[in-house]
Amino acid sequence: MPHLLHVWSNVSQRLLRASQVLLLFDYDGTLTPLAPDPEQADLPPQVRDHLTALVSGDRYIAGVISGRSLKDVAARVGIPGMIYAGNHGLEIQGPGLDFVHQEAMEQTGTQAQVGGELQRALAGIPGVIVEPKGLTLSVHYRSTPVDQVKAVEEAFARVTAPYVESGAVRITYGKKVLEVRPNLPWDKGKAIALLQETYPQASLTCFFGDDRTDEDGFKVVQESGGIAVLVGPARQPTVALHRVDSPGEVDQVLGLLAQL
Ligand SMILES: [Mg+2]
Repeated sequence: MPHLLHVWSNVSQRLLRASQVLLLFDYDGTLTPLAPDPEQADLPPQVRDHLTALVSGDRYIAGVISGRSLKDVAARVGIPGMIYAGNHGLEIQGPGLDFVHQEAMEQTGTQAQVGGELQRALAGIPGVIVEPKGLTLSVHYRSTPVDQVKAVEEAFARVTAPYVESGAVRITYGKKVLEVRPNLPWDKGKAIALLQETYPQASLTCFFGDDRTDEDGFKVVQESGGIAVLVGPARQPTVALHRVDSPGEVDQVLGLLAQL
């Protein structure tokens, strides 16, 4: 799998040939290094400057697609004119676009109920953060002692099992995060397809992501002739055809994009 910076001359030609480029990024682990507490994952100032420069021109339509809530990710990035997609694309705001997945909206009661049960079941385990995000919810355990991780996973499985069995929710797994989502056929890939329809003036899509939940996005982007980039080590399994090592290298790419 080629490193994006090693094939940059080829990639930059493709970018220059495009009418406009839809440029999409995951947030945690992609634009920012992963933090022990997700509250601390602020956007590095240099990344903010690069993104601001990119959206001020007319070559790029740029956006962030995160598992965080829309409100959270929009507040953390806070650059006007960008697309912000929260809860893995169940809610999206961008230029001329204001989307919420209706069926997901109707299931926020179930999310709140599961969240309450998880709060109680996980209360005694150190380092666990149960984060209700409206349309979905996350259980973070990056700061949990290694010997208690199994207890987190078991309590999570016990609480969510009846909801999974009844078909109300589905579970996804990321880096030290467990997530409860409404059981709907929607993911970052579907959200990217919606953005491609909304912004047809962009003839090329690029998407950068670091986690398993980004794989749906990689697939849709590559099937549309775009460029999918895994942020992480070469050994990490992925469908993406390109990679960079780290959020630091994503920032390097942002700098190169701004110069095109
Ligand atoms: Mg990520």
